[in-house]
Amino acid sequence: MTASLAIDPARLRDPALRPVADKLQRGERLDRADGLRLFRSPDLLGVGHLADAVNRARHGDRVTFAANQHINPTNICVLRTTCAFCGYARLPKEAGAYRYGLDQVLAESDRADGTITREFHIVGGLDMQAGLAYYTEMFRALKARHPQVHIKALTAVEIAHIARIEKMSHEAVLLALREAGLDTLPGGGAETFSAAVRAQIAGKKLGGAEYIEVHRTAHRLGIRSNCTMLYGHVESLEDRLDHLAMLRDLQDDTGGFLAFIPLAYHPDDNALGAQLGRQGTSTTGYDDLRTLAVGRLFLDNFQHVKSHWIMVTPALTQLALHFGVNDIEGTVVREKIYHAVGARTPQGMALDDLLRLIRGAGKRPVERDALYRVVREFDGPGEGSEAPAAALAGA
Ligand code: SF4
Repeated sequence: MTASLAIDPARLRDPALRPVADKLQRGERLDRADGLRLFRSPDLLGVGHLADAVNRARHGDRVTFAANQHINPTNICVLRTTCAFCGYARLPKEAGAYRYGLDQVLAESDRADGTITREFHIVGGLDMQAGLAYYTEMFRALKARHPQVHIKALTAVEIAHIARIEKMSHEAVLLALREAGLDTLPGGGAETFSAAVRAQIAGKKLGGAEYIEVHRTAHRLGIRSNCTMLYGHVESLEDRLDHLAMLRDLQDDTGGFLAFIPLAYHPDDNALGAQLGRQGTSTTGYDDLRTLAVGRLFLDNFQHVKSHWIMVTPALTQLALHFGVNDIEGTVVREKIYHAVGARTPQGMALDDLLRLIRGAGKRPVERDALYRVVREFDGPGEGSEAPAAALAGA
């Protein structure tokens, strides 16, 4: 943790937050009891103040984003009927099922031509016809066509699926994919690690320990990755903390995670939402901000905490920049998975809009690559040609 934090005790109205603030000031790691205090405190602004102090000590007023493009090559998935929170997957003969051929993937990737795209984010379903050769051929072709673009592809769940159908180890699959052009792994598929929660929302999906094992293997091979947590469904606050603790433990061991990205559950067009009677009611802004802030405070060995504006809206992501978040989802171009479960946000965001969102929060935009190296720095609010009042009005 950092040496001195700009924590103002007067901004902590809940006395239960004081011992947490003291620990942070001393550079001590928070334990589960601290995490629960943060989750349960009625003083959301106090929790946000602590997270903001830690974030500012690390990143100042800089907010990073990547110029990225999502590609979802197949929505065919063997777990279609068992992942109750998913509205994206289809069975092979079901209406709406698709699997791109190589030409279609390349045509989709050509949207990057003439743009600033530096990263393809590639994830999809667990498709029995999409084995190792499907992806190695795809990655080689993408690298040949767009050599400047980083490939962040395939969740731990997809890696394990390929390993199973090819009868290979996770390590062998990762090595083959890297040789074909894979650069990093995204963090999807973590959901909530609790076995009881998984039994209810994703009974047949890769377990939490196996998710950790795939990422551990990737890190050992020098492949960096992100990690996520799906929240706002049936999990308890204790489940969330257990999940965060598993991520923190692996990060202690390997240092291989780049960013933590909480993912808000959307209840539309999926069996779980119907079962819970929650269609049309996504997570609350209160919970979104708190979960991001607790992530920043509990995951003291993570550099980056990212807000996914597609799931929580650009407006809430802008607020999150004062609740411990230093990184936001980028340009995306055409998002499909969360829009299949009711996300009402745009499917992509233009660079100017991203810059306006960040400056409007009083922050300085920094474009990064997939490994968080700086690509270019932009003027902050009030610098260059943009006056602060204009930035705030536009955001
Ligand atoms: S969440 Fe992933 S693994 Fe589960 S059904 Fe959807 S696409 Fe398949």
